Amino acid sequence: MKKMLDCPFCNIDHVKTMTLFEDLLVRVILSNPSLMPGHLLIIPKRHILNINELSKEEVSSIFENLNKFQKVLLKNNEGCDIRQNFRPFIKQSQYKVDHLHFHLIPRNNEDELYSKSMIYERDVFRFLSQEEMNKLMGEMNNAN
Ligand SMILES: [Zn+2]
Repeated sequence: MKKMLDCPFCNIDHVKTMTLFEDLLVRVILSNPSLMPGHLLIIPKRHILNINELSKEEVSSIFENLNKFQKVLLKNNEGCDIRQNFRPFIKQSQYKVDHLHFHLIPRNNEDELYSKSMIYERDVFRFLSQEEMNKLMGEMNNAN
């Protein structure tokens, strides 16, 4: 299995990290730092950067765990975000790890995350013009 020396997800600190589940392919941990109480990370054990490197078995295990742990979080929360950020332009830090992972973030109506960040999405979110849609469709179709 490919491991990176400077990667916190390849070198899990078992004292500081709470593992909720693991098998041969994936690990589910309590995110720390955490955006919301109950924020979880689902991490393939192989050090890979992008979803296009996942095997079918890893995809299957990750989605089974997203589903399973979303159900767990929904027992005590109204909603849940599932996120995966691919931002190779940001340097690895305490808040950004260059090892593929999926976030499960419990959400509640107008929670702290909403009031401090998501509320600004409303200013960015907008309808596309027909011209913009045609241009984007052209770009997407050319990529295939
Ligand atoms: Zn890693």
